[in-house]
Amino acid sequence: MSAHAHLHYGFPTVFGRGLAAEFRNFVNPPFLVVTMDDLWPLFAADFAGADARPYFTRSTDVGDLERDLADLGEIRAIIGLGGGQALDVAKYFAWRRNLPLFQMPTALSVNAVFGQRAGIRENGRVVYRGFAVPECVFIDLDVLRAAPPALNWSGIGDILCFHTGVLDWRYAHDRGKAEAKWPWDPVLADQSLAKVEGIVDAVDDIRTMTDRGIAALVDGLQWGTSFHGAGWCPRHIEGTDHFLFYTLEHLTGRKFLHGQPVGLGVVVGAMLHGSRADEMLDVIARIGLDIRPEAMGLTWTRLEEGLTTMRAYITSQPLWHSIAHDEAITPAFLADLRSRLDRAYAHRS
Ligand SMILES: [Zn+2]
Repeated sequence: MSAHAHLHYGFPTVFGRGLAAEFRNFVNPPFLVVTMDDLWPLFAADFAGADARPYFTRSTDVGDLERDLADLGEIRAIIGLGGGQALDVAKYFAWRRNLPLFQMPTALSVNAVFGQRAGIRENGRVVYRGFAVPECVFIDLDVLRAAPPALNWSGIGDILCFHTGVLDWRYAHDRGKAEAKWPWDPVLADQSLAKVEGIVDAVDDIRTMTDRGIAALVDGLQWGTSFHGAGWCPRHIEGTDHFLFYTLEHLTGRKFLHGQPVGLGVVVGAMLHGSRADEMLDVIARIGLDIRPEAMGLTWTRLEEGLTTMRAYITSQPLWHSIAHDEAITPAFLADLRSRLDRAYAHRS
């Protein structure tokens, strides 16, 4: 019997419209709205006259956050309103001050809203710290639909990665290289794979962000909390997919739209495993997410550098064993990847 047959996951999540205007009626004042300066003009009227202050996220560096925390004054609740960064800072503040947290994503670009730990930076390195469970995650259908489409399409990266995460887990298990604390669990793996099918089955709805498309994205991103639910096991949720992203981030020191390098990592991982690579690429391209290097500000040379040094980088970290630890990226592989990408986006300019 799998220990994870009855795994608990997800946070209380509410779908609706006009939700930002309701915060003033139920959030304990004075409260802080952790957001971004370019988003605030869209929501300021919802908080007009309320005992609320906006906090504009500029940095996720722990030193900056601790300094700002010391200057906050009296606050009785935290609202996170924005994309990944504002939601992570909201988590961090709620954790450090022991305050109730309410989260409202303005785009579904990553699964940050469905994780207990806050992604922050220590000495320039991303670390995940804290434990913040929101009272509720508010999914405003109209707000999400109004976001730049690529931001929402990016969210499929944090769901399709379950495909390669599970492949890597199975691969490590078959070779006796799965970590003792994370033994292969087919029940947990199957739950992840069902979320992948939820995206494959909703391509058109996600492209146009219908209510059904938003529901499919949220359902897959909610599975992010199964990292905690499975006892901090990351095996069923990420592998080569995110490893390519970590490598590219380390190599370039740049920020990426999360779903682009992760989505490319899904295709790379699926190619290495010989499992559904063209199908994953087709789903990504049909939804509209452009994962070609030029779409994320990388030259082919730079991407090739990332791919060929990934093995050394992930081994040095170290990260849990994957096919990318064993297989060298060859010139033939690079040429194959490039022609697959060219084909997938041939009609998308
Ligand atoms: Zn991710």
